[in-house]
Amino acid sequence: MGMSTRPCTYCNAESVYHRRYSGEYLCSRCFTRSVQRKVARTVSRYSMIRYGDRVAVAVSGGKDSLSLLHILSRASRRHGNELVAVTIDEGIAGYRDESLSIAREFTSMLGIEHITLSYRELFGSTLEGFLKMRGENGINMSSCAICGTFRRRAIDIAAKVAGADVIATAHNLDDMLQTFLINISAGDVERIAWMYPEPVEYADGLRKVKPLLEVYEHEIAFYALTNDIPFQSEQCPYMNEGIRGYMREFLNGLEQRHPGIKYNMLNTILKVSKTLRDNLEFKRYRCSVCSRECSSAGVCSSCMLAMRLVGDAGRGI
Ligand SMILES: [Zn+2]
Ligand SMILES: [Zn+2]
Repeated sequence: MGMSTRPCTYCNAESVYHRRYSGEYLCSRCFTRSVQRKVARTVSRYSMIRYGDRVAVAVSGGKDSLSLLHILSRASRRHGNELVAVTIDEGIAGYRDESLSIAREFTSMLGIEHITLSYRELFGSTLEGFLKMRGENGINMSSCAICGTFRRRAIDIAAKVAGADVIATAHNLDDMLQTFLINISAGDVERIAWMYPEPVEYADGLRKVKPLLEVYEHEIAFYALTNDIPFQSEQCPYMNEGIRGYMREFLNGLEQRHPGIKYNMLNTILKVSKTLRDNLEFKRYRCSVCSRECSSAGVCSSCMLAMRLVGDAGRGI
């Protein structure tokens, strides 16, 4: 990565990006196209989005989700797809307000419908309120784990509201590797099986896809930069990365010494997760509180968390 005065490997224009793992020098236009083509290949290889699908894109206002929206908005015109951006307002004063306005402006610039739903209207409290309840009830769970559980549910609901067939999230290659290492560390084999990118169709007909899973995080950052995509760079004030942060540093150190090693790791993950997916029998259950589909018998993780926090066994989400 970095500036260079070498000509672009493809068109001879001045290059602005050096792709270390391939040796390519790229001008802004060729770099942008290479990322768009890579995403298009990922989408088609794993049958993520079909012709005519209505796609809900989860947009946080950060570089990954806005770049994803930018990339899909180009491709969707050719593939008969309608996009709708969905943003979840967790209720984090200051932080979320800025990203909401960035998301609103960017979607209107692209001419994409934008839906916002809040934790307060969906679950009866803001994240800040839930974190207070966590303290009061002595629940040992990180802010990100609490927020992530509610966010997944909120995005599902938003996609339903939007009438979408597919939910696209902006998880990138680095996210995939970190998640894999975390699952390995936790001995969670079933979750590794779930990492295989070919979408599973849920009972409610929704599919979940990650079109950026083969793109390095720093290439998405450069994509946003070189395409003048405005994004929020401020981090969430509650961010508590824990083990994920260590995994990120570890992987970046490896890549620094061995350019391309992250790709090799991803390819291994894809093979391993495919084998596991093919051989594991996934049982589906219905949550006894909200009656949504879930992976274990009894109460789903969102309802369980809401009950633990609010302490009201009758109320699901
Ligand atoms: Zn070029
Ligand atoms: Zn439930």
